[in-house]
Amino acid sequence: QSQELSNVRIDYHAALLALQEQGTRMVCTGKMHTDRICRFDYLCYCTEAEEFIFFHSNASVMLPNIGPRRFQPALLDLSSVEDHNTQYFNFLELPAAALKYMPKPVFVPDVTLILNRFNADNLMHIFHDDLLPIFYTMQQYTDLDDEARLVFMEGWGEGNYFDLYRLLSSKQPLLKEHLKNFGKLMCFTKSYVGLSKMTTWYQYGFVQPQGPKANILVSGNEIRQFALFLMDRLNITTEERPEGDDYIVVFSRASNRLIHNEAELLLALAQEYKMRTVTVSLEEQTFASIVQIISSASMLVSMHGAQLITSVFLPRGAAVIELFPYAVNPEHYTPYKTLASLPGMDLQYISWRNTIEKNTVTYPDRPWDQGGITHLEKEEQERILASKEVPRHLCCRNPEWLFRIYQDTIVDIPSFLEVVRDGLKVKPNLKIRKTSSIIHPGRVRQPKCQTSVQAAHEAKLSVSWQIPWNLKYLKVREVKYEVWIQEQGENTYMPYILPQQNYTFSENIKPFTTYLVWVRCIFNKSLLGPFADVLICKT
Ligand code: UDP
Repeated sequence: QSQELSNVRIDYHAALLALQEQGTRMVCTGKMHTDRICRFDYLCYCTEAEEFIFFHSNASVMLPNIGPRRFQPALLDLSSVEDHNTQYFNFLELPAAALKYMPKPVFVPDVTLILNRFNADNLMHIFHDDLLPIFYTMQQYTDLDDEARLVFMEGWGEGNYFDLYRLLSSKQPLLKEHLKNFGKLMCFTKSYVGLSKMTTWYQYGFVQPQGPKANILVSGNEIRQFALFLMDRLNITTEERPEGDDYIVVFSRASNRLIHNEAELLLALAQEYKMRTVTVSLEEQTFASIVQIISSASMLVSMHGAQLITSVFLPRGAAVIELFPYAVNPEHYTPYKTLASLPGMDLQYISWRNTIEKNTVTYPDRPWDQGGITHLEKEEQERILASKEVPRHLCCRNPEWLFRIYQDTIVDIPSFLEVVRDGLKVKPNLKIRKTSSIIHPGRVRQPKCQTSVQAAHEAKLSVSWQIPWNLKYLKVREVKYEVWIQEQGENTYMPYILPQQNYTFSENIKPFTTYLVWVRCIFNKSLLGPFADVLICKT
């Protein structure tokens, strides 16, 4: 059976003795429940009570040891979604002596990563909330290697894309429902609990309307490294295609949020860009074959929706064109725009919205979760039907939002082409393999200042420095220096940008005054280096 635990043999009696004598040991990272990941020896799980168990003994360790604050609100988030109250992790405590009265534990010998998937039926959520965070949590802890065991505790079935989770390690992932097959008490020899949130870029609107995360910590580089890993595991190779064999992909949805004139759209794109156009859909093709196609495409055109997460597989330089149904403001729903705009993703992003009401097809009679509104009060239905834009709202059941986002659309070709023409700065081109440089300057070295007093109201301040140490190994298009001069005690400063390594300031320099001077290097206008230690210069 696929749910066999391991071929690693463990000495059962030694393991049991270790659990009884050592109890559970936990050491975590993170100051708060929202940034915490914990590593455990001998964390147990009682399948009857559906609770994790921490066994106390003389040798057990619990760090952080925060008493009842462990419940305020939780020890940690079990999914990568920040502070979601259905995704909290905690454990029950027992003395190790209680093991005598409990069912015999079954030991899990593999190093295990325990987490909640957030929404395993939606491709965007699968990538953003699960696959990327799992991948990079595994990179953070070296013993979470290809032999690691993933355990999903959210309680759902496999979902439509379980094969994608299988790519992350060579062992079959376990679901919560599988655990009881192993026995009443399972003990994970070594486990990590929780997920890194470092790679997520979007918040779904649980406490404020959805939008990019406030502090994005991931760049296109890490997203692309992950995409390459998946492509490798899916046995996808991107072969160089002959010159002029560029093509556009239209990603179509088959069950809802349809494009009614898809053929017309394909034809218009083909004529405009003199390229082949192909359509893909999750209903018609395997995920791997879609990735294969997208990985060499010049342009990806699609209605807003989870399928747009496949833009992680586009080559650098490609364009993403996201279509929005009537009354939906593209600026309010930007998971794919944010992704495409991450530094180093090197994708062009354009949105188009249907502004012509007669080109929308509404479904008021559908169930509420597919955007139906007939269950609402008559007045509310009329308000929604008359509204020209969904106001900003919280996740996840706003009926006006669901009504509008599940409309079908007849794409107005002239306005679509105009938006794309205006928006594409350069012709989409997958040959743009060159990444813009990401190497920052070091500090400038040996900064010095010299001063002289010319007259009662005239003074000079000369500042000089050496190039940053790493510059001699780099080819940099443009090297500039920024100098800040602040009169001591003032709270403003004068900034200067200079191409050379020294300069004599005389304007605004007063005699018998102390100036604080900072110098840093800038590559290519935007890559800022650190400031050197402040210079204290007395005229
Ligand atoms: N989906 C699909 N075809 C469709 C509609 C949806 O393959 O016609 C997939 C979609 O890619 C996502 C899941 O079904 O993985 C849920 O779709 P939903 O419309 O709920 O979410 P959204 O796409 O708006 O994120």
